Amino acid sequence: MPAKKAAAKVSTRKAPSPPAPSISAPIVVDAGDWTKDRAPLGSHVSVAGGSWESAARAREISATGSQIFTKQANRWLERDIDDVESTRYRTAMTETQVRWTCAHDSYLINLASPDDALRARSTESFRAELRRCHALGLDALVSHPGNFMDDRVSGIARNAEAITEALEAEPGPTRLLMELTAGQGTVLGSTFEEMADLLSRIPAPLRARVGVCLDTAHVWAAGYDLVSDFDGVFARYADVLGFASLGCLHLNDSKAKLGSHLDRHELIAEGTIGGEVFRRIMTHEALATVPKILETPKGDTPAETDGRMLRLLRGYAAG
Ligand SMILES: [Zn+2]
Ligand SMILES: [Zn+2]
Repeated sequence: MPAKKAAAKVSTRKAPSPPAPSISAPIVVDAGDWTKDRAPLGSHVSVAGGSWESAARAREISATGSQIFTKQANRWLERDIDDVESTRYRTAMTETQVRWTCAHDSYLINLASPDDALRARSTESFRAELRRCHALGLDALVSHPGNFMDDRVSGIARNAEAITEALEAEPGPTRLLMELTAGQGTVLGSTFEEMADLLSRIPAPLRARVGVCLDTAHVWAAGYDLVSDFDGVFARYADVLGFASLGCLHLNDSKAKLGSHLDRHELIAEGTIGGEVFRRIMTHEALATVPKILETPKGDTPAETDGRMLRLLRGYAAG
């Protein structure tokens, strides 16, 4: 997600009982035929009103995959998810077509920071992210590698160490997906090789719980030419990281140029990447089973805009 985007407010009030929210209103957004989705496909949806409210938003766009924030992503304030909320969320999700769910972690977390206090705070916050994912039963947590600030090699080591510490402390079913970045400033993880290096430093038993999220806008900005060398980029990915590591695709077109290192999401087929790349992704055999999540701008009408994007992608998949 672009860091400028403010998170929706998450309610922290305790619900007295867990009545399932009624989300049986007719779906009026034409998001295409979800029954043909070969892998979960959906969008980042708002949790305004409570995590369970994201279900109605996912349902409205016939999403088969969903991404949420489990707290306000631009605040340090943590929260825990109790049984009431967990039940309410899970019940609401059963009324949707969603079969794969993930959360995106807070933008403030920097597990690579050379500042011991900030790294400790980040590790605490990251552990809370994992706990909330486990409580909600989410399939994955998408997390950005940190900023090294001082020295790249030390930064990678600190990042891997903090991830290891958090995974050790928070056992659970949620798969951690480290997201490839655009490589702005001192952010780590903008090359397949650096991501592989980071993951290789996590001890093998814990590494089994870790994979990769590939964001098309990020890798494009990082310099991977999806337009002129689509097959080459994915062949390189397979070589360096292996397709088994690929746990999620973030489908975003870009406002920024190839190699610009700028993280600027754009509507599919309306940016510098263009629709053809997304048509190829939607029909690529090796990517067929990888969950795909949109993080494109929503404008004033989120359901209509996301619905239009999903219809477009489902059209590509249909050929
Ligand atoms: Zn982004
Ligand atoms: Zn992303």
